[in-house]
Amino acid sequence: LESKLPGSKTSIFSVMSKMAHEYDAINLSQGFPNFETDRKLKELVTKAMRDGHNQYPPDAGVLELREMISQKFNDLYGRYYKPETEITITSGATEALYNSITAFVQKGEEVIVLKPAYDSYEPTIQLAGGIPVQIQLKSSDYKVDWEEVASAITNRTRMIIINTPHNPTGTILSEEDMLRLQDLLKDTNIILLSDEVYQHLIFDEKLHQSASRFPELSTRCIICGSFGKTFHNTGWKTGYCVAPEELMKEIRKIHELTTFSVNHPMQRAYAEYLKQPEHYLDLAGFYQEKRDTFLELISGSKFRSTPSIGTYFQLLDFSEITTEKDTDFAERLVKEHQLAAIPVSVFNIDEKDHSQLRFCFAKTNETLEKAAAILCSL
Ligand code: PMP
Ligand code: GLN
Repeated sequence: LESKLPGSKTSIFSVMSKMAHEYDAINLSQGFPNFETDRKLKELVTKAMRDGHNQYPPDAGVLELREMISQKFNDLYGRYYKPETEITITSGATEALYNSITAFVQKGEEVIVLKPAYDSYEPTIQLAGGIPVQIQLKSSDYKVDWEEVASAITNRTRMIIINTPHNPTGTILSEEDMLRLQDLLKDTNIILLSDEVYQHLIFDEKLHQSASRFPELSTRCIICGSFGKTFHNTGWKTGYCVAPEELMKEIRKIHELTTFSVNHPMQRAYAEYLKQPEHYLDLAGFYQEKRDTFLELISGSKFRSTPSIGTYFQLLDFSEITTEKDTDFAERLVKEHQLAAIPVSVFNIDEKDHSQLRFCFAKTNETLEKAAAILCSL
């Protein structure tokens, strides 16, 4: 049997979470909160069920939810997306990414991916017959070298994927980055796929530079979002994408084939919950406090770090502790110390930069304290 994805292994997120379970370890690997979803939101789901919203919703998603997303983009970034034709609810951002890549990337076309990159991008490109063109971010600060991006663009480039705030590094793209990108893409047919699942998790008074803020970029751009990240319920697997109508028309053709439509009661609940902007605006402060608590707790350890500016991940450099490769150290950390983290090299080219682990700080303070005690003992 010939595999369509011979290079693909089981996702590191599944591998590490499974190991954490087997070794009864504290799991700071796969990114999900270990605290509860707001009770109000859960009650809205049960209300939606009681009210009879238990059959297929419209394939593009519950209109009221699309209207709330539209309003949010308009209020926060000044870009109006038409709920009827420019917004689609998907099964997590993962489906939105899959649909977007599959809808546009043809056999032999190139897609520029900045490494380290989230692990679903490249296999999806390959499945579509496309060729990922990898550009490594410099490990000192993970800034994008736009000159390098410019020289990677060819007449076969179909798409470029960006992710801000960035998983796994916790860095963000600045306004200058976005303007530079806008300039680069001018007069080309390149589609921008902007993964903005951590848009509300941004710290130190920084502004999220959504691609939708930039008029010329947004005309060629698909933006993916995830409610699981925003509302502490990754298991509900509900996300969305927004894009100009011309692009969305094609994305919806794939959406009808992958899931057709996604869970109905959750969509009703999110639509209601989004009516109170503090539900997402308060997140930055909440997670900044988590980040600060975690960094404070490990300040006496041998781990070195630059504070994460966004996402709920913190990279820690362990080169003062061991010269082991990150994958080996991560394995030993679970087996001998009952603490799970994600080795960063698996997202890089040629497994470069292998002295960093990614820790998820979306955890109760009690869990962070226990994890920090282990880290300080090393
Ligand atoms: N993109 C990035 C950068 C992610 O970290 C994740 C994982 N949470 C996703 C997309 C997928 O999001 P979802 O869980 O909504 O499918
Ligand atoms: N996005 C999550 C992370 O980075 C994991 C999602 C998944 O397990 N696919 O940890």
